[in-house]
Amino acid sequence: MTFDVSNPGALGAPVSSSSASPGQDKRPVFQKTLKRSIGCTGVGLHSGQRVAMKLHPAAPDTGVVFKRVDLIGGGAIIKSRWPQVIDSRMCTVIADKNGISIATVEHLMSALYGLEIDNVIVELNGPEVPAMDGSAAPFTFLIECAGVLEQDSPRRAMRILKSVAHTNGNKMVALEPWNDGLRVDFHIDFRAAAIGRQTCSFTVSPAIYRDEISRARTFGLLSDVTALREAGLARGGSLNNAIVVDGDRILNDEGLRHDNEFVRHKALDAVGDLYLTGFPIIGRFIGRCSSHADTARLMRQVYADHSCWELVDMWQDATETAAWNPADMVAVVAPAAAPARRVAVSR
Ligand SMILES: [Zn+2]
Repeated sequence: MTFDVSNPGALGAPVSSSSASPGQDKRPVFQKTLKRSIGCTGVGLHSGQRVAMKLHPAAPDTGVVFKRVDLIGGGAIIKSRWPQVIDSRMCTVIADKNGISIATVEHLMSALYGLEIDNVIVELNGPEVPAMDGSAAPFTFLIECAGVLEQDSPRRAMRILKSVAHTNGNKMVALEPWNDGLRVDFHIDFRAAAIGRQTCSFTVSPAIYRDEISRARTFGLLSDVTALREAGLARGGSLNNAIVVDGDRILNDEGLRHDNEFVRHKALDAVGDLYLTGFPIIGRFIGRCSSHADTARLMRQVYADHSCWELVDMWQDATETAAWNPADMVAVVAPAAAPARRVAVSR
């Protein structure tokens, strides 16, 4: 799917977005939710706890809302937005004002961004989203099984108006203006020979996300495992939900899903973290050897300067299909005539 953007003005800020149509051949892009509830059970990567998760349809403008249902008194409700982020050292952790938290939200948030789900209630009976296989593919599978429902409210996007960057030694993250959708360029450089230098570039669409990004698993160095566990992290980590690297060796018997699976996973993480804005992004994200913490610092800079971004209504060709169907998603979402939205993934 391609979309154009009207010029509605700044947000966050003094001017709200316009609803003016850009032309008769365009129609608004509408928000989406799930057609029905669906769930899964798994182990939290860091907590090691077994957790049941249910995804429920939600009304327009709900956003992605997490609910802890294991707590006495009805549970905590946590909006998945940047002000709720309390920790981003190893994974992204959000919490309510009482400190009740949910960890490792980024892979689920990434799948929701990739498949363009705006509104969903995420119920959990524990403190962490289950790791599943360490990628976002189990979550895209759940979304596709539940089905996607287009809602009667227009979708808005956060358009980046000027470049913002954060540098920390050899790490760098940036958001820049871009014409169409979210472009992600990521580069990593690890001493471990099994990882080495890898690069990937893509423009997010449901088809590209599902086929090129969602299956990339999280990873760790064998040398770090002991330190992580002593810090109370990675207790649920195993070869079933992470790639483990020791120098030039990959310890997982099944090997890799892509030659550059490591950098694809870093891009997956970035997409999930960026969705903590609450909106799809029209801009280019650049990550060089960066982490969740670097993205968090970048987003603090973006939010501190309202001249960096605005909220805009999203428009698409009136002839495009209203709601995508997994069976024809490639044809609908990434037509061959739209080269700007085709993926180029390289090592
Ligand atoms: Zn990750």
